[in-house]
Amino acid sequence: MSSELELDELYRELILDHYKNPRHRERIEHADVTAEGFNPVCGDEIEMELDFDGERLQAIGVRGRGCSISQASASMMSELVEGKTIGEIRHLSEEFKQMMTEPESAVPEDLGDLEALQGVAKFAVRVKCATLAWHTLGEGIEQHQKGDGAVRVEEM
Ligand code: ZN
Repeated sequence: MSSELELDELYRELILDHYKNPRHRERIEHADVTAEGFNPVCGDEIEMELDFDGERLQAIGVRGRGCSISQASASMMSELVEGKTIGEIRHLSEEFKQMMTEPESAVPEDLGDLEALQGVAKFAVRVKCATLAWHTLGEGIEQHQKGDGAVRVEEM
């Protein structure tokens, strides 16, 4: 049985599902923070609103344009982080970035659908597509902690 091949197919379907039916697309009015991310290498764009209740990310709204990896990653991330605390989100973000930069490392079990993106780590130029949403969220959280309301991120 070629389990590796079947797994890849399953992951492809999951990525396409998030790309075609992105989660948490609804714009949040009067959000605490708005954050925009841009990846000039691929042309991916993401915008998000974050609403906090103390240390907890109460709600996230995400929309964007670009390749399927960037948009699926944003959708998968939104499902994972909504309702979590800033500390929990930082931990998940570190795990995801590690998965993207160390293709040989074991995939953490708490990354949800993002696990489907592990194969992207082998393609250096696409890693920025996958991490754009996370960098944008990270900057948004920092802005929130500084008490600012808006931020724009460019992947370098
Ligand atoms: Zn891209």
